[in-house]
Amino acid sequence: MPRIANLSSAGRRWTLWGLLVLLLLALLGILVWLAARYEASQVQQQLERDANEAASDIRSALTHNMQSLLALHVSEPSTASWALDTAAVLHEHRELLRVEWRTATLAIKSQVNSPFHAPLFDSLGRDSALSDIGAACANARRFSGPAYSASYFVPQDDGLGTEVLDLCLPLLSAGQLTGYLLATYSLDEVLARMVNPQLTRSQEASFTEADGARLAVHGTARRGNRVFTAQQLLDLPGNTLVLRMDSWRGAPDLFPNVLTALVSALSLALLAVLALLASDMRRRLSAESDLAEALAFRKAMEDSLVTGLRARNLEGRITYVNPAFCSMVGFAAHELLGSDVSPPDREDSVQAYWPPELTATYKKRHATRLAGEHPPPERFEAVFMRKDGTRLPVLIIEAPLINAQGQHTGWMSAILDISEQRRVEEQSRISQERLQATARLATAGEMASMLSHELNQPLAAISSYATGTSNMLQGEAVPVTADLLMAMRRIAEQAERAGKIIKSVHDFVRRRDQARESVAPQALLDDIMPLIHLQAHKLSVQVQTSLDASLPHVLCDRTMVEQVLLNLARNAMQAMDHPGGGERLLLIGVQLLASNPAWMEFSISDQGPGISPDVARQLFTPFFTTKLEGMGLGLSLCRTVVEQHGGQLAFEPNQPRGTRFTFTLPVASPPGHAVGSAIGARKAPQTQSDPEASNIGLNP
Ligand code: ADP
Repeated sequence: MPRIANLSSAGRRWTLWGLLVLLLLALLGILVWLAARYEASQVQQQLERDANEAASDIRSALTHNMQSLLALHVSEPSTASWALDTAAVLHEHRELLRVEWRTATLAIKSQVNSPFHAPLFDSLGRDSALSDIGAACANARRFSGPAYSASYFVPQDDGLGTEVLDLCLPLLSAGQLTGYLLATYSLDEVLARMVNPQLTRSQEASFTEADGARLAVHGTARRGNRVFTAQQLLDLPGNTLVLRMDSWRGAPDLFPNVLTALVSALSLALLAVLALLASDMRRRLSAESDLAEALAFRKAMEDSLVTGLRARNLEGRITYVNPAFCSMVGFAAHELLGSDVSPPDREDSVQAYWPPELTATYKKRHATRLAGEHPPPERFEAVFMRKDGTRLPVLIIEAPLINAQGQHTGWMSAILDISEQRRVEEQSRISQERLQATARLATAGEMASMLSHELNQPLAAISSYATGTSNMLQGEAVPVTADLLMAMRRIAEQAERAGKIIKSVHDFVRRRDQARESVAPQALLDDIMPLIHLQAHKLSVQVQTSLDASLPHVLCDRTMVEQVLLNLARNAMQAMDHPGGGERLLLIGVQLLASNPAWMEFSISDQGPGISPDVARQLFTPFFTTKLEGMGLGLSLCRTVVEQHGGQLAFEPNQPRGTRFTFTLPVASPPGHAVGSAIGARKAPQTQSDPEASNIGLNP
């Protein structure tokens, strides 16, 4: 589902990007187009200005010429002098092709041709243009001023021709028309002479008819194929000419001018920035997806944790809990997060999982933490309350929460549910108590055993004496009463009965013979270590064990052997308990017996004062003790137990000082061997037979 959402959001993102690129392209296209248009309009305006300027140039030059021509008649010239002056004027003004002096009836009085051109009307004759001249001069008479004819074409001998225009000036004398001065202009030359050459350097000037046909052209040959055109009307009395300016541009340039180039460059830069943005976006997206992946990984990690995690801000409000914490206390995350945890009538924060009886303590601890005077310990134990009201002991490991800016924003705590640990501790305490009770029972049993052992001899003596006496009384001639005999027999009977009772007590005590099991040496030590450590701590003794994990199991009565180990360890530690005794080290070792690997040797070494020969002689004697509140039964019990297993208990001086007690136990038969046969086949190392026990016959 989220994947589909991702896809559709990615699709939308790409659509938006596409739209953005399109809009940008459109904008840039319009910008370039506008810039080009602006440039064209600039050119057009310039052209209009040029056309205007050219028209006014021509207008003022024509007026100037007119004045020069009028000046010819200022002083009533003779025909000859007129011709001379006129020739000078024609020499000066190349655009004038011919000047005629005509009478009021338009008859030619005199005429002068331009020295720069072939005589104009040689081939065609002047009369061909008479109607044009007549119209112009009629106009001139009507205006009492200059008038221009319509332009007309005059073919030449060389096959070419020229478009010309006549100017008719009425000559007045004392208000009476005396004649006409007729000047013929070449339109080509008008353009060439009268228009500022600057204007025609890169443009073409022409006179056209209303339908666009060119009458005369001057200017550079056309270049390129883009044409700009401006037209200007040249209003002359009697005639109106159209002056047209054409400007050619080369094939439309990609960057016609600086502005367009600038806009284009900016557009390119914009596109580049867009591309950079897009790549940045792509990097961002990939970083985003990496981040999402890392977040998912972190979430999976948090969800799989069995340790509860809880983050609190500086006010003590919970800002984060992981699923393990929620399942620990039985509240949902939303019930723990934020402010709804604290009841509305209380301003201070009270957590839902605080047991009411401890709330005051916890609040005080929180206040201390806030004050920052005594930073709380990093690890501490506390009690939480589940939603159902049950309590659970927890171990809290707390660390300050520092954000990316290095500011302290709260605390992060890891919370371990230690109820299982507590249960195990309780169980081990109970089993230790049981072990001690068993030890006491075993001691009592041993006492009974010793009592029976001690009592057996006198009882046996009573029995034999009684039997002897009774025999004597029967055999010798001693006066015997039947009652005496009877009494003697009773002694024997009772003594025998006592012996039986004691034997049954003995059997009862020894019934544990059957409780053999295969145990790892390590397991034996593990069971008693808590008790040993307890006493070692009290007596400041250091305890070391040395055994190989790969050692085989031993076959033994677990409780009794543990009792032996305990007794020997206790004796060893007590032996070291005197002031100034130097190092106090208790070493418990287990190894296979070098001389016979079917036996396991346990050793308990101390660094006490050792055992003097005096003490050594009575060491295993029941009730022998050198301690104030000693019973003197420990060692004899130990020996009994070890020997019941077929092993041997011995002691020797320890190096550099103290005593080393050792005892042996049979190694459990490897799988597949019957236990009974293994015991039968096994022979204890240096088996010692107890002469007394065999005498009495109470031992099995
Ligand atoms: P108890 O410990 O009640 O005295 P035991 O039979 O265990 O009885 O010990 C008998 C005596 O043997 C002790 O009183 C002590 O004098 C001596 N003894 C036992 N173990 C050691 C030892 N490791 N070092 C020196 N003396 C010992």
